[in-house]
Amino acid sequence: MGGKLLSIGECMVELSQAGEGLLRKGFAGDTFNTAWYARACLPAEWLVDYYTAVGDDPLSTEMLTMMKAAGIGTTAIRRIEGKTPGLYLITLKNGERTFSYWRDTAAAKKLADDPDHLRAAIEGSDVVYFSGITLGILAPGAVDTLLAELRRAKAWGKTVAFDPNIRPRLWPNKDYMLKTIEDGARAATLVLPSFDDETTHFGDKTVADTVARYKALGVENVAVKNGAEGATISFGTSEQAYVPAVAATNVVDTTSAGDSFNGAFLSRLVCGVAPAEAAAYGASVASVVIGHHGALISPGLLPG
Ligand code: ADP
Repeated sequence: MGGKLLSIGECMVELSQAGEGLLRKGFAGDTFNTAWYARACLPAEWLVDYYTAVGDDPLSTEMLTMMKAAGIGTTAIRRIEGKTPGLYLITLKNGERTFSYWRDTAAAKKLADDPDHLRAAIEGSDVVYFSGITLGILAPGAVDTLLAELRRAKAWGKTVAFDPNIRPRLWPNKDYMLKTIEDGARAATLVLPSFDDETTHFGDKTVADTVARYKALGVENVAVKNGAEGATISFGTSEQAYVPAVAATNVVDTTSAGDSFNGAFLSRLVCGVAPAEAAAYGASVASVVIGHHGALISPGLLPG
């Protein structure tokens, strides 16, 4: 049986170095990356839609064309007159990647500004995915609008999945950031944190601390990703498992490890696969993704 997964957030223009004086243009963003991998891993009877706001400029048009070509639905995406997408530039210095962002005036910051439109998109979906980056780009009033709709979706029995993806530079201060991440988790039925972020910002000493902290907020299902150390899942009150990472033959770029894990994991879960098996599939997809450059790798390269 099919359904619809809706991923909510910001897709940006990505510029990366392509030789002396040349830049390559792509499109990426955490929630979009997850939509990409969910689309690649889900059977055809499942629809994957992206929810954001873009501008009415040629780059926004190109972004929508790329999404449609990937099989990702764009009908819920609002176009805002006079706006443009956010953009980031990846610079390589001695093999280290640094990111510069231009996103303060991005159209995506207005993604929750039409509550009726947002409600209709969520009502028409079975699974809703969002992240701490989705929340971090929004004004406080828009955060409240989005979280109210997500809580409503949860109350209706939909799967609401949340990756805290904690990025301090998006937030005005630490207290508000941590409080809003917790509010995001409370609105979700499944939280997918990365231990690295959680230990840095919430001070968790162990993966078990991260699981316990989200469970204490009332989150039913938690899957903590911990890079090469694997993932720990805790579903409901009885299902606990440690799922090892799949050794990557050659790690070239870990961008999107967590996003691809989430997309692949969700794609199996929503089809009724047991959580530990679904997480093992997420790990196998992530191990392939980190063996290639860039956030989005061709679906043909992924394990079936
Ligand atoms: P994020 O990208 O959100 O920080 P992680 O780094 O925890 O997420 O990685 C997510 C998943 O990707 C892990 O649970 C693991 O399955 C896989 N992964 C990440 N790094 C490696 C690695 N070096 N080797 C093998 N698998 C990895």
